[in-house]
Amino acid sequence: MLGRFDDEMQEMISLLKDRGISDSRLLRSMSTVKRHLFVPEPFTSRAYEDSALPIGKQQTISQPYTVAFMTQALGVKPDDKVLEIGTGSGYQAAVLAEMGARVFTIERHAELLSGARKLFDRLNYRIASKAGDGTVGWNEFAPFNGIIVTAGAPDVPEPLMKQLDNGGKLVIPVGDLDFQTLIVVTRLGEKFERKEIHGFKFVPLIGKMGWSR
Ligand code: SAM
Repeated sequence: MLGRFDDEMQEMISLLKDRGISDSRLLRSMSTVKRHLFVPEPFTSRAYEDSALPIGKQQTISQPYTVAFMTQALGVKPDDKVLEIGTGSGYQAAVLAEMGARVFTIERHAELLSGARKLFDRLNYRIASKAGDGTVGWNEFAPFNGIIVTAGAPDVPEPLMKQLDNGGKLVIPVGDLDFQTLIVVTRLGEKFERKEIHGFKFVPLIGKMGWSR
């Protein structure tokens, strides 16, 4: 049965393809996870626009292209253990889970986390989540094959690098409060290879190893 947002979702997927997103499992996941369920009123009708939208607590659900670009850079494989910092609406975590990853996610706003958890339950995603400061990672479940940080950091937090598995990737926007460069850190044994990718604008990563406010 055709849903109210089906055409808009297909337009979003076409736009992602046009902008260079080619990972077919990622595109399938983003065609399955209904972004409109993660966008609160009064913005729900704009859910498939390629823009970040407010989700409360002065936070945003990231732009679809940003979600796609960062996830593609992470190179997720089925069964990979992936840690997300900045659960927000829960959309990025759902996209990762739909790709077959085992997802762990941390959010500093308990209220946002509670909304995301309700959606995970409703949509039957088994995602481990906790409220807290994600800049120190989640040591208990390390090492991770991938770590994705969805808020802009002043630098790459050392604990996150340490929690990467060998060959694992950390994708994180780093810069000042107005502009960030996407950094991909790959762990090769005790070495860390750092690549700079792209310019983005994110809400700040606040915490012990992040911004102070
Ligand atoms: N991934 C989210 C989604 O799909 O909706 C978008 C997240 S929003 C751009 C960034 C989130 O990071 C916000 O919800 C913010 O509260 C959270 N955040 C900022 N600093 C954090 C920290 N140190 N630990 C955990 N979450 C943090």
